[in-house]
Amino acid sequence: MIAKLKELWHNLCKREDDDMIQLSEHFSIKEAICHDSSNSSKPCPYCHGVFIPCDTLLKALEAFRSNVDAPVIITSWTRCQIKEAKMKPNTPSPKSQHNYGKAVDCYVNGVGAQILYDAAIKVPAFNNGGIGIYVKQTSGRDRIHLDVRDTGKARWGYISNKEVSIEEALKQSK
Ligand SMILES: [Zn+2]
Ligand SMILES: [Zn+2]
Repeated sequence: MIAKLKELWHNLCKREDDDMIQLSEHFSIKEAICHDSSNSSKPCPYCHGVFIPCDTLLKALEAFRSNVDAPVIITSWTRCQIKEAKMKPNTPSPKSQHNYGKAVDCYVNGVGAQILYDAAIKVPAFNNGGIGIYVKQTSGRDRIHLDVRDTGKARWGYISNKEVSIEEALKQSK
């Protein structure tokens, strides 16, 4: 079933009007596919823009968007293994929830980490899953990683590419 859906979305991705294909009210297929690291408007050259659908993530993301009440800009959603490995050259066989289509990285214009975090923990699938805070890492903006892993809560923060506790990241972002 998942393989079939993947194939279907994959074929849809190649359509000229792919911008128009909505997954839900506020999120489109174009945001969800694996992107080229150096040009986010292009599909990934390794997998040609694979997308792994996850209904739990999509519903949680809509709930998060409703909590922040502003457009949520996605910087990374589905990632293939090759892209993951290229992003983390020092980690042997790196894995992330992005590889299963269960994670997004995003930001909201003019909204800091604490507000993003507060909006995320109000969504049970994110509160019980993974939340990472990246302080001022996307063009000077705070970014949040959200995932719906089913292996228990995970929390972390990054300040200037250095891993810190989420408490420290939230404190620094103010
Ligand atoms: Zn890829
Ligand atoms: Zn992430």
